[in-house]
Amino acid sequence: MHIETLLRHVHPIKGFSYETMRLSGERGSERLCCPIRPHRRNQAICSACGTAGPTYDHLPPRTFQMVPLWGIPVLLLYAMRRVSCPQCQRIVVERVPWAEGKSPMTTVFLVFLASWAKVTTWKEVGSRFYVGWDAVYRAVAWVVAYGKEHRVLDNVTAIGVDEIQRSHGQRYLTMVYQIDRGCRRLLWIGRGRTKKSFKPFFTWFGPERCARIRFFCTDMWKPYLDLIAKNAPNAINVLDRFHLVAKLGLAVDEVRRKEMAKLRAMGKAVLVRTRWIWLKRPANLTRKQRRHRQDLFANPVNLNLKTIKAYFFRLDLDRLWTFSIPEHAGAFLDDWCRRVMRSRIKPMMAMARTFRVHRHLILNYFRACKVFSSGVVEGLNNKAKVGMRRAYGNRSDDVLEIALFHQLGALPEPPVTHRFCG
Ligand SMILES: [Zn+2]
Repeated sequence: MHIETLLRHVHPIKGFSYETMRLSGERGSERLCCPIRPHRRNQAICSACGTAGPTYDHLPPRTFQMVPLWGIPVLLLYAMRRVSCPQCQRIVVERVPWAEGKSPMTTVFLVFLASWAKVTTWKEVGSRFYVGWDAVYRAVAWVVAYGKEHRVLDNVTAIGVDEIQRSHGQRYLTMVYQIDRGCRRLLWIGRGRTKKSFKPFFTWFGPERCARIRFFCTDMWKPYLDLIAKNAPNAINVLDRFHLVAKLGLAVDEVRRKEMAKLRAMGKAVLVRTRWIWLKRPANLTRKQRRHRQDLFANPVNLNLKTIKAYFFRLDLDRLWTFSIPEHAGAFLDDWCRRVMRSRIKPMMAMARTFRVHRHLILNYFRACKVFSSGVVEGLNNKAKVGMRRAYGNRSDDVLEIALFHQLGALPEPPVTHRFCG
């Protein structure tokens, strides 16, 4: 079998045929070149308006990079025709079915590169397939643009909003995810985490689709809460369980830090190296940590430590999530807050106050019948962090956005005759 036959099988081009393939270059830097020729009756298509017209002349041959074969780069060679377009009334370069615009890469190669860019870094993909980082970037950008244009957005009923820290410093992205069961994906990215950066989401999504949203899962970030209440009137705003638990953990840690400093001033080192003992779930403690915790509990004097009291409050709140009736959960939460307020441990009291303010939203979690496990938004956000690392090599906002959509957008891909990988 000729290689051209194989090429025709995996990458047929209607109206064109492959000529004899040639191997050129020294060993180690070989290239496979395959000239393409239009069929005799094939008329060139105007790239401006899509009308077929007579050929005016031919441009010098151009190369289009194809998926490599056996570790050898493959190039398609074609002399573009210029069309004397009857519609545009001028001479225009033809449009070819295997590539877009001035791209030196075939569409299948773009899709191929982009699919690899999902599993490893862009730099790595470039070096594996004989192209530069920028070529991989362009491939991903093209596939993402296609996907965004062709995605269906009418089935969105549950949304999760979270922020993600972009590199170091106070730069944030607002991430909006669809978290419906069976369809979890990134929908939209806002730059910053202010009211101003989140508002365009509702404009983009449109009032009709917004009215169809039934659940909005967020943390206690005020700008989000206000906008959701205003723009998605039919949605129940559910406070994400994960964020509540995480905030409580921070409060416990604050108690520990303050108390430890105080004890240190008195020459005591009771709480040294205990940070993770109070932050981790008891089941996740290492054997050493478990022993350390046991030793601390064994001394009754320690039980008066604010840190340990705060820790027990934290563990106790876990029971909240076991309720299934909102009223029962509410009664438990009220009781918990009352006990915390009596403890006079300041960071914990601040938490209780916050919980009281957001009581309604917290209980929405039970009204939404616990449809969302706390991990959904968090899981997507963790993936986003990995995606940020994939785009390593350039950190502009545009590049980052494309990388994130590529990774998490669950975008539809352009149709191809043959999948060159997985
Ligand atoms: Zn035209």
